[in-house]
Amino acid sequence: MKVAKFGGSSVSNAEQIKKVLDIVNADKDRKIIIVSAPGKRHKEDVKTTDLLLRLYEKVLAGIDYTAKKQEIIQRYADIINDLEMSDDLLEQIDDTLESFIKQLKDKPERLQDALLSCGENFNAQLIATYNNSRGIPTRYISPGDAGITVTDLPQNAQVLDQSYEALYKLRDYDEKLIIPGYFGMSRQNYVVTFPRGGSDITGAIVSRGVRADLYENFTDVSGIFRANPTIVPNPLSIDEITYREMRELSYAGFGVFHDEALQPLYKDRIPVVIKNTNRPNDTGTFIRHDREINSNNVVSGISCDKGFTVLSIKKYLMNRQVGFTRKVLGILEDYNISFDHMPSGIDNISIIMRSKEIENVEQKVLNDIRQRCDVDELSVEHDLAILMIVGEGMHRIIGTANMITHALAESKINLRMMNQGASEISMMFGIDVDDADKAVKATYEYCYNGEALQI
Ligand code: ASP
Repeated sequence: MKVAKFGGSSVSNAEQIKKVLDIVNADKDRKIIIVSAPGKRHKEDVKTTDLLLRLYEKVLAGIDYTAKKQEIIQRYADIINDLEMSDDLLEQIDDTLESFIKQLKDKPERLQDALLSCGENFNAQLIATYNNSRGIPTRYISPGDAGITVTDLPQNAQVLDQSYEALYKLRDYDEKLIIPGYFGMSRQNYVVTFPRGGSDITGAIVSRGVRADLYENFTDVSGIFRANPTIVPNPLSIDEITYREMRELSYAGFGVFHDEALQPLYKDRIPVVIKNTNRPNDTGTFIRHDREINSNNVVSGISCDKGFTVLSIKKYLMNRQVGFTRKVLGILEDYNISFDHMPSGIDNISIIMRSKEIENVEQKVLNDIRQRCDVDELSVEHDLAILMIVGEGMHRIIGTANMITHALAESKINLRMMNQGASEISMMFGIDVDDADKAVKATYEYCYNGEALQI
């Protein structure tokens, strides 16, 4: 059995929805389909989820929201018209939006999640109805009925383990099932969404729950490129990549597949393939537990993400002072700041985090560290970019680090930081934001157009 998930651009209009259903109906193993909300139809378009967010903001601000609501209904009206379907669903859409607004206006966080969930929820109902009209027995199932039970944290739902047992029962249905992505139900019976882009997460949870043989993730590219194609012209695409590699690459900016979606799949080793709705016969990129390593694919991909801040602390004899790092990290914890990397030496540590984690409380954090940790020097730098070179087996092969540092040095890129310690499959370099694109280009050249590495 396969679970297939279709992203926003794949279900953005009638023409795309027809393509999706052609793909779905062409393979009897494609039993469970997860859909996103209608995404952008062209570059300047607005995603339905963003329209819903704007509707929520208007409701919250107490201003007239009728035009925004109408704009949302119109997105579905256009699709319904073009598919020559009856417009009964439109009334239902209007009623659902109004009833959420009425019931939840005093619980803004709940209202936000309920409204955001509507994009996928309406689309799933529409697509199921349409496929039935084409003579293919198809059933819409809400995440609540499917058994996706989640924690109660608005816009940050985590799946609860009980979901997996419930989801297994979906195997009993004979029809094709269409489930909206992006949200689940909490035990308190609230709609709670995953983070943005979370339909990938729904697909992963359902795949694990039904023990799918394959999770097909359909999007608008024929797989994952080895580097960002807006930086490197015509980069190579990746045939296969491991879960661990994918996690490291998506952390640093590879946006094709949500990094939280890997967790449910990793445990049961359910393979994923990223495919293109517009070119369904292209092989795509497989994400799985292991992969073959040869001299051309030692480095799986190169990514670079911007917007990091680094706190640097120096203290003479730091290595001898028991509990020093714990004190520093305790301060970050007090401000609910999560950090990403922590390269250290005998007398210094650098703590690297996304700038948005610290920007509102930076001075307070610095003051607390000064007061409570008795440091010799404390500095903060912004505008750091993180370059990640990712590849299984890289640490075993002589010359990879040399190749990368050489490429960066040749392009006159100053390395503000380097870390290959903890992760076996990646090298991390802290560089200036202004050097980010240059660094990706230079390392790509060396990794894929230079001399092959000896294995
Ligand atoms: N519609 C949601 C978003 O735009 C979730 C998704 O498409 O995966 O973030």
